[in-house]
Amino acid sequence: MSEHEHLSRSETLRLLRSLGVDLPADTKSSDKWLRNKLTQALNYAQLAPQKFSSSQIDFSNHMDYALKPLKSKIVQTNLYESVMDGLLDGSDQFACMRNAIGVMCDEWDMGYRKLSFEKEGKSCGILIRIISVVKSSKGGPSMILLFKSVNMEALKSAPEFRQWSRSSDGEQDTLRPHHSNSVLEQKLLYRLLSINAMRVADAYRPDRSDFEHDFTLSFLRPIGPLTMSDLGKLNAEAGCFICGSNDNHLRCTGCQSIIYCSKACQKEDWKRHKPLCNSLAGGTWTTLDFSPTNNLFTSQINRFHRSDQQLKIKKPNEGPPPNIHSDQPFLIKIQVNAFGSLVYDRARSFEWNVLSAEKPDTWAACHDMARTGFLGAKCYRWAKRESDWKLSICVDRVPDEMPKW
Ligand SMILES: [Zn+2]
Ligand SMILES: [Zn+2]
Repeated sequence: MSEHEHLSRSETLRLLRSLGVDLPADTKSSDKWLRNKLTQALNYAQLAPQKFSSSQIDFSNHMDYALKPLKSKIVQTNLYESVMDGLLDGSDQFACMRNAIGVMCDEWDMGYRKLSFEKEGKSCGILIRIISVVKSSKGGPSMILLFKSVNMEALKSAPEFRQWSRSSDGEQDTLRPHHSNSVLEQKLLYRLLSINAMRVADAYRPDRSDFEHDFTLSFLRPIGPLTMSDLGKLNAEAGCFICGSNDNHLRCTGCQSIIYCSKACQKEDWKRHKPLCNSLAGGTWTTLDFSPTNNLFTSQINRFHRSDQQLKIKKPNEGPPPNIHSDQPFLIKIQVNAFGSLVYDRARSFEWNVLSAEKPDTWAACHDMARTGFLGAKCYRWAKRESDWKLSICVDRVPDEMPKW
């Protein structure tokens, strides 16, 4: 097994989080279940899995794709990321990986074909040779490539590698080395390429050199942040909190807010769940209405709205934000001032502004909660999505640990 193939549980969770799927750090879901989630999330990121036909793809008859810059066609982003440009750090492996894919596109545009991704101080790296960029059946580009996880240190003295990485068909055949922010970012790229490799038809066999005999054939498609409805689907399929099974939906009778498949799974989780269960079960819950009033336009800068979706300014009649929390309790942050209050969740799946002049009751309830919090202006509370525009909020319980978002 290559270094890139191995993903620990905590690494898988970090990668899922960078894609917007936020699971508890101590989730007991099986390793296999977590890996499947990551595969699903990467499928959604490639502009919806349904766009991959179930049959394998034979690229032999595809036309060349010539539009430039290729990066703008393959690397998708959204308004949130544009606003945050420069603030996204190495811990957002999904953004970093798309940067790396952007680098591959730029190299292709300039006529280069061979790249490596390396991390300073680490021996492992990924070698890539781009074979071609073709038009997919839907018209968008597919970048076809060969890749391999290698030990760069060991390889550097190998004559066959030196020959491969040097120009033979002119200068543009020379290997172009690039730095990665982290090995974990490389692992995400490796995972994506491995998933897509299984979609390439066996019949398609482009030429490869001797050095490339054990490279894997794969491709890249346009890739961007998951949309709210993608995330909603990923969360709706969550199943048993411990093992992910959808066999039975047994609800915790104490708080009604968590699902297990069996008594055994519930028992396994009890030590972890007990404090939350107790505070939720004993708390006072109030339902607040955040539905937009007639004249209210809520502006949303949302991490999960892709640039190909027009959701920048949301009119009230455009409908409610999708529910990414299913019926699970989640933390909300409430901020208030004299004129209004702002209520949102960590993923910013919704961001609701309430003006005191338009919804005095909701504003007053938010104000009462925030008054007890930091500087009397903000606080965190447990909430459940009751309906499209309503939250049930546990008003008198404070989370055990103060979140930092
Ligand atoms: Zn279970
Ligand atoms: Zn409970």
